[in-house]
Amino acid sequence: MPSSPLSFDPAEMLIGGRWRGARDTLPLVNPSDGSELAHVARGQAADIDAAVDAAEAALAGEWGRMSAAERGRLLAAIGRRVVEQADRLAHLEALDVGKPLRQGRADALALGRYLEFYGGAADKVHGETLPVQHGYTALTWREPHGITGHIVPWNYPMQIVGRSVGAALAMGNACVLKPAEEACLTVLAFARIAVEAGLPAGALNVVPGLGEEAGAALAAHPRVRHLSFTGSVATGALVQAAAAKNVVPVTLELGGKSPQIVFADADLDAAVPYLVNAGIQNAGQTCSAASRILIERTVHAELRERLAARYRALRIGPAVADLDMGPLISRRQLGIVEHFLGVARDSGLAIAAQGELPNHLPSGGAYVRPTLFDDVPADHALAQQEIFGPVQVMIPFDGEADALAIANGTPYGLVAGVWTRDGGRQLRTARALQCGQVFINNYGAGGGVELPFGGVKQSGHGREKGFEALYGFSTLKTVAIRHE
Ligand code: NAD
Repeated sequence: MPSSPLSFDPAEMLIGGRWRGARDTLPLVNPSDGSELAHVARGQAADIDAAVDAAEAALAGEWGRMSAAERGRLLAAIGRRVVEQADRLAHLEALDVGKPLRQGRADALALGRYLEFYGGAADKVHGETLPVQHGYTALTWREPHGITGHIVPWNYPMQIVGRSVGAALAMGNACVLKPAEEACLTVLAFARIAVEAGLPAGALNVVPGLGEEAGAALAAHPRVRHLSFTGSVATGALVQAAAAKNVVPVTLELGGKSPQIVFADADLDAAVPYLVNAGIQNAGQTCSAASRILIERTVHAELRERLAARYRALRIGPAVADLDMGPLISRRQLGIVEHFLGVARDSGLAIAAQGELPNHLPSGGAYVRPTLFDDVPADHALAQQEIFGPVQVMIPFDGEADALAIANGTPYGLVAGVWTRDGGRQLRTARALQCGQVFINNYGAGGGVELPFGGVKQSGHGREKGFEALYGFSTLKTVAIRHE
């Protein structure tokens, strides 16, 4: 592990290929111990304006003239550098987000893989010629939107930048990126890697800052032609409203209350690690966290014991100790999770198991005991609302129809897992589930860079990841020529 992963000035923003300071800064806190880590720029509307100017100049200059193949080669080269620096990036993420090193390293490798994937795809998206009446030739071109805005949350900065900025750059857009105020370091480190690898000035601009300042200015900017937002439902609705004023398309990747449904015929040995990991990974601060475990009643007792044993064995500690779970992102997030634990206590919910916090943890850290609740009514707040912490609820069900009604019975629809050996049921449930991704006898397909991702209902709309994202980050022009 490098001794100082922070080998750059984190208070600088990237605008037009230059690193520059901001009028004001914001403190970053290490959630593992509460210490102040660094200061980052508090970008303002004027900085977003400057970034938009720089992006516009990039489109009119070297970046706009690059061939798709050259863009692809460049993205792949940036991806290779990211992979080479995966340990350093993981260390930065551990300090900034509180993510155990192995999880941060997996995010860095995923960022590298996104750039490899979208680099390879850049010159493979093309238009068509269309059959029309005699004397005409008609064709379509895939073109970039122009300037794209990217608003990113703190929980998976590297992965989310990889999937949205990677696809946008592949299609030739110029990006203005606003990372989350709580976690900027790996985004800034990535931008430095991209510049060093030769990304033309202005193709990527990074303006950290507060959501209501830099974020709102980016969402409302009249020259931004597409917005990609990942974050909470409430903020997503604000971003969509701002985009509507400029009649700009928006991709919204929002929250979830994703179920994993375990039928009695499931391979429980295979299921158990996935069921728990999908709840406690990144301390449960994952949009696709499987926060609801739906269990067919006949295997409820057996599965409860197995899950509980795993919970009791969880090792929790500072992110750099690289255990199963680190702290939450902040004391503020800890307050939210503790609120839900209080609601559960007040309504008498049964705790099936909790992870233990070791007693030597730094007192300023944002640690919470991972908690598994048993027999939770499907309409209870803990089974309906996104908690964004390591809290899972078990909900027993009786038969397929009951399982589907419970699974679909929240305002969200992001991801679902189904555990069954019955082939017919696998397909029936996959069709009936209201969500953007279904995983059968697994959860996440080992990363899924290639798999289109996004939600229905309040989990959002539009798709990122996979080839599909390239269509979202481009627009189609039809040309018809009369040549008699
Ligand atoms: P958030 O909505 O508070 O913030 C997300 C981003 O929006 C941040 O960069 C923030 O600065 C910015 N922002 C805040 N107010 C803004 C405004 N008025 N205008 C423009 N931008 C603004 O979300 P969060 O707490 O950082 O992230 C947690 C949420 O993100 C959870 O709900 C989680 O499920 C969701 N999430 C979804 C996905 C997905 O792919 N579906 C992935 C990760 C996180």
